[in-house]
Amino acid sequence: MSENELDQDTAFSLLADDTRVRIIRELGRATASPETGIPTLPYAELKSRVGIRDSGRFNYHLKKLVGNYVAKENDGYRLRWPGMVLYRTLVAGLLTDNTGPSIERFAVGTDCHRCGDPIEAHLYETLFRVRCRSCDANYTDIYFPSHGLSGRSEEELLRAVHRRSRTILDSMTSGQCPWCASEVTADVHAGDDPLPSLHDTRDFDAYVVYHCTDCTGFQYMPVSQVLLYHPVTISFYYDRGTDLTTIPEWTLEWAVTGQTTTVLDTDPWRFSVRIPLGDEELVVELDEALEIVDSAITAQGR
Ligand SMILES: [Zn+2]
Ligand SMILES: [Zn+2]
Repeated sequence: MSENELDQDTAFSLLADDTRVRIIRELGRATASPETGIPTLPYAELKSRVGIRDSGRFNYHLKKLVGNYVAKENDGYRLRWPGMVLYRTLVAGLLTDNTGPSIERFAVGTDCHRCGDPIEAHLYETLFRVRCRSCDANYTDIYFPSHGLSGRSEEELLRAVHRRSRTILDSMTSGQCPWCASEVTADVHAGDDPLPSLHDTRDFDAYVVYHCTDCTGFQYMPVSQVLLYHPVTISFYYDRGTDLTTIPEWTLEWAVTGQTTTVLDTDPWRFSVRIPLGDEELVVELDEALEIVDSAITAQGR
């Protein structure tokens, strides 16, 4: 076992106590409070907020946290960055809610690009999915913290899911893991390989798998969807009065299906993607590294 793994064990073991979790929660709340204006809590205040009478017991647990999660300052205690990350994770409900609030499945207002039936949104464990129940085409499949689900209307929820999906996939396609910030690799797979998700029956000639080299984070998408995050497409839309970044991916057939993608070559991979908008079309050629090698705007259908 490496020294690094030992540190991880210690970091986790430090949390194996309710009092310590409460200390982190109270320091987080104090830090987040606009009234205090200061990111530290004096010892007595912290002890009273945590609600422990026994000083010996409180000191014992506090001492365990000082160093990795908590910093001791002259005027009190504050969260260090790992403590703050932990606090945010607790608030988001990522560690505590494995099902989240129940959300009835509802139609998102777009018909399935494959079979024409209404696409629905629903929550599967902590995954928010936008998919077709009739043919199992899965257009969006993203981890969504349960905290963010509460108190939002269906419309607000879809906007939030779209924004989160875009943030995560934008980061992935730019080569950085949205969870751990390590490098992400991209691999093109032939469409006759089974898709990484059993809950997706879309047909592609090829698709891309983005894989974090460190934390197992991964996402896959049709080749054309890579262009959803690329400035060439964003500016094509923007120049025609539309902000592409506000449009949910599941409404864009060119992005979430293989309909407008042509495989020009398989060794090495080379693709042509048509992106229709109004009576024009952006045509983009991608190489095996999914870099743009050519792009042109034409009147549609030429
Ligand atoms: Zn369908
Ligand atoms: Zn990662």
